[in-house]
Amino acid sequence: MPPLPALGKALLRLVFPQTCAHCQEDLPGSRTDPLCEACAKLLAPAEPPFCSRCGDRVGASRTHCRPCSKRLFACGLIRPAFYYGGAAASLVHAFKYRGRGDAARFCGRRMAEGLGRSPELRGFDRVVPVPLHPSRLRERGYNQALLLAEEVASASGKPVSDLLVRRVATKPQWNLARGQRSANLAGAFMARDGLPAGAKVLLIDDVCTTSATLEECAKALKAAGAASVHALVFARQSLKGER
Ligand SMILES: [Zn+2]
Ligand SMILES: [Zn+2]
Repeated sequence: MPPLPALGKALLRLVFPQTCAHCQEDLPGSRTDPLCEACAKLLAPAEPPFCSRCGDRVGASRTHCRPCSKRLFACGLIRPAFYYGGAAASLVHAFKYRGRGDAARFCGRRMAEGLGRSPELRGFDRVVPVPLHPSRLRERGYNQALLLAEEVASASGKPVSDLLVRRVATKPQWNLARGQRSANLAGAFMARDGLPAGAKVLLIDDVCTTSATLEECAKALKAAGAASVHALVFARQSLKGER
């Protein structure tokens, strides 16, 4: 006989069947993933050619996107597990807007697999999630980046340090012009005490669009003593026309 919590969960699934986060078909009670078998096959890992710094798509003849070829960043490398769209976008919607924390944990496990494809990210000793503003955290009930970070940390045997704080509730980045994005975020993050000096951080977020959030988080972590900051994100979204 299954233990009581598991039994409760199984009964709940009978009354309210879990649906696939992408096609919305009911999932068999035995399936623990948030995608049905067919939709899980649609998730294709991000593969080169991409910018060797920020992971955004570039033409096969280029090693860097335009912004990355022009300057240095506090956030070293950014690697996406997937590109935004299709089943990957549905998973993001599920954990951001439909309370599917299970989808975030699933994505975190896929990100941990993505680490295996990105040996250049190895060598970190701390996993740090991008924080939510407290008002957003109350609304959603969890920080999806922390759920992702916990899965990546448990797969890699490194501790999670949930020590970044978002001081201001910033406007969504996607509807701002490029020049306004860093101004919108300037000073938005700080690191609480607790980061060992010289820490090598792997920063975790769900979606990377402009990379301005990752950059501001990396600045706060470096100000707090981090020796290096690289980032792993679940999905990379391209800003059309800017690269
Ligand atoms: Zn499906
Ligand atoms: Zn780039």
